Order: sequence, then C-alpha cells, then structure tokens
Amino acid sequence: MARPVIAIVGRPNVGKSTIFNRVIGDRLAIVEDKPGVTRDRIYGTGEWNGKSFSIVDTGGIEIDGEDEIMKSVRMQAELAVEEADVIIFMVDAKTGLTLADEEVAQMLFRSRKPVVVAVNKVDNQGRMEDIYEFFGLGFGSPIGISGSHGTGIGDLLDEAVAKLPELEDDGYDEDVIRVALIGRPNVGKSSLVNALLGEERVIVSEVAGTTRDAIDTPFEKDGQRYVLIDTAGMRKRGKVYESTEKYSVMRSLKAIERADVVLILINAEEGIIEQDKHIAGYAHEAGRASVFVINKWDVVDKDDKTMQNFTQNVRDHFLFMSYAPIVFLSALTKSRLHKLLPVINHVSEQHALRIQTHLLNDVISDAVAINPPPTDKGRRLRINYVTQVAVRPPTIVIFVNAPEIMHFSYERYLENKIRAAFNFEGTPVRLFTRRKS
Ligand code: GDP
Ligand code: GDP
Repeated sequence: MARPVIAIVGRPNVGKSTIFNRVIGDRLAIVEDKPGVTRDRIYGTGEWNGKSFSIVDTGGIEIDGEDEIMKSVRMQAELAVEEADVIIFMVDAKTGLTLADEEVAQMLFRSRKPVVVAVNKVDNQGRMEDIYEFFGLGFGSPIGISGSHGTGIGDLLDEAVAKLPELEDDGYDEDVIRVALIGRPNVGKSSLVNALLGEERVIVSEVAGTTRDAIDTPFEKDGQRYVLIDTAGMRKRGKVYESTEKYSVMRSLKAIERADVVLILINAEEGIIEQDKHIAGYAHEAGRASVFVINKWDVVDKDDKTMQNFTQNVRDHFLFMSYAPIVFLSALTKSRLHKLLPVINHVSEQHALRIQTHLLNDVISDAVAINPPPTDKGRRLRINYVTQVAVRPPTIVIFVNAPEIMHFSYERYLENKIRAAFNFEGTPVRLFTRRKS
C-alpha cells in the first residue's frame, strides 16, 4: 500500500531542509550508522498521529543548468503538485512575503491540492505577528514555526496529516507479488517487462488500469500471480521536468511504496552510479525485498571472472544491502531471464518469513554466549527475550534491561547471527530494542 506523500515547497533558504530533517530526524539517525544509504536527503519517511507518510524536500531537486531562482521554484511547485497529496508551502517570516511566494501560491492554488502554509523563522513569540501578512496567500491560517528552535512543528504536522487522504487499498490479493522495476532511464525497465510478459506460459490477465504513478501489469506464471509496477510508462507522458535525472527518483519512490519486491536495475554497460544507491537505499529503508538485476549482460565482454568482479562491485557499492541477490540477464536477448522469477518468488517468501519465538531465542542465547552484550559503567546489557512482531519486512523486538546500553555494532552482530540461522535472503530485517525486565 502506498504511503501518502507530503511535499515541502518554497524558495531557497526559507528553511525547507531544516524542517525536513526535523520531521524525519529519528529515522535518519538510524540510517547514519550505515553510510551511503541517504546522503542526498531529498526524501524520507515520517510518522505523526499514527499516520506514516513519505516526505519530499523538493528543494533538494537540482535542475541541470538552471540557476534562476524562479524557474527552479516553479519547477519544484509543479513537481509537488503532481506528486504530493498534501503540500507544505514554506515561507520566511524574516524576509516577509515576496513575489516568488505569490507566484508559487497561484500554482498551488490552481492545483486544488491541500496546502498548509508554514511561516518559518518565527524564532520568538514577539515575531508571531509576522505571520499575518501570509493570510493573504489564501490558504487559511498560516502556522508559525521555527526550524532552529523546533517550535510549531507539531502544529504544522497536525494540520498536514489531517489533510492526508485515507490509504487506499490497491485491490490486489495478499498472494499477489507486487514487483516494482526501478532504475535510471534506458536501463531496460520496459524491455524487461516485455521480456517477462513475452515468456511462454505467462498469462497476462489484462492491460491494467493506469494508476496515477505507474503502469500496472498483472500476470500469472506457474500458478503464481504477479503485478509488475513499471515506472517507465510514466515517462512517456512528457513533462518539462521529466528530463531531469532526479525526477525519476520521485517516481521510483511511489513504485517502491506499492511493491513487495523491488528490482533494482543496473546497466551492465555503464555500471553503478550514485542515483542507483539513493533508490536502493530507499527500497531498503521502506523495508521492501530487493533484487539487483544487472541488465544488458549481452553487451559485456566476458571471461570467467567478469561475473564475480561485477558481483564484488555491487557488494562494494551497496554495503548495507548485502542480503539482496544479484541476477545477471539480458532483457533484449532473454538470456538468463528464466532465473529471475524464481529469485523473485524466493525473496518474496523470505520477506514474509515468520520465525517461531523459541527458535529465535535459541539463536540469540548462543550468540550471547559467544559474544557477551556490551556494558556501560559496570552495567551489562541483559537480553531477556526476543520475538518477531511483524513480517514484510521481518521485524524483531529485543527486550532488554536497559536499551540505552545497546550498541549499533552489537545489534548488527545479532542480526548477522539471525541471518546465519534463518537466512532472510533478499529482505531487510528490522531490529528494535525495548525495555522489559
Ligand atoms: P532551504 O534552502 O529552504 O532548504 O533552507 P535551509 O533549511 O537550508 O535553511 C536556510 C537557512 O535558514 C539556514 O542557514 C538555516 O540555518 C536557517 N534557518 C532555518 N530555519 C530557521 C529558523 O527557524 N530560524 C532562523 N533564524 N533561521 C533558520
Ligand atoms: P527504460 O527506459 O528503463 O524503460 O529502458 P528501455 O526498456 O526503453 O530500454 C532502453 C534501451 O536499451 C532500448 O534501446 C533497449 O532496446 C535497450 N536494451 C534494454 N535491455 C537491453 C539488454 O538487455 N541488452 C541490450 N543490448 N540492450 C537492451
């Protein structure tokens, strides 16, 4: 099920990334222990009043060769209008209302999307009156906030989250595997969809209803039903900003949110680029199962070491996703294509794997016996009990005497032991440490 999207729009320097970081704050703190996951923080996830959402800082989207502020702001706004369910329109109490603000307001107004005006840099109560001029933008009561002090952000999120649509069920049965194909333009997403559908014994149920953000194609093979969520289809609509590389990230995020299994396509000819890492990082953070698909394998000059070297290259670039299997194939010639669906089936199973509590606790006891938990000022972490609380992705809670003593490195050690015992191939595993004596 897709998470709704909140976009932050506004001129440069009004404080968008400051607020963005505050909203996703905790989540990133986890991520920062794992280098390379989200260096470019233009997207993230947040949760407020029990609702989770994706949040996009549109200011993080650079437009190639464009440095005129107005053009870039206009572009951002257009993006937000297209992609967001709710827009946070950020303005600056210090500079007051500007022409650029008014122009953005008009675009947002025409879109009829819900808009909340956040007046940032209201650093003290004396400044509260600065927000009144922003009533004139026509989006109701502006909310005064301060990114520096963290004030008003709860009120802002109350408003924004209240305007989010209820999550819609996408209508597919539980046993349908939803597969997203993501990757840069020209990596071969459409070709791979066609190759899969062109295979013998594939039954394409219908040319599916076009959703807002991707083309869905349901099909069935060997009794297993799938839906391919193809982000490539959207590009063909041709909008101004569609040429910008960063834009395809936005599109990918929506597909990832709706998927069970994410195929991260990499062009064997061109190798791995930074953007591939961002997208993979998002699939990881969103808790989806992932498979690296190295496409265009037909054009690579190969000897007996080539596949091994490429595998190492993928592992080096995606350190945090060592769990994801790698499939080499050619969508064009269909060579090795038959390997893909079995891998998809396998990671999908692993994603939904549930381990019995007593088995988990046996593994953890052994792990603790070999390598005792960390201590802090003479106090030792004691693990009392471990249990899996969710699947898709497997989510495991570790009950301990004092969670503050838990180390990231020890958590990773436990994760490695859990993986050594139960595999969980292709899926992230989430560990949470909670107090319970
Ligand atoms: P963006 O370009 O819209 O993403 O803006 P940034 O988040 O990068 O912030 C621009 C500048 O405004 C930075 O120097 C921030 O430290 C500063 N800033 C952000 N929020 C506040 C605030 O609430 N009060 C004040 N005084 N400065 C702020
Ligand atoms: P998309 O933008 O990711 O959907 O990429 P397309 O499926 O449109 O493919 C882009 C180009 O790469 C097309 O010219 C394809 O024919 C070509 N292509 C796709 N897969 C392969 C492959 O496995 N090998 C080779 N040699 N070319 C491919």
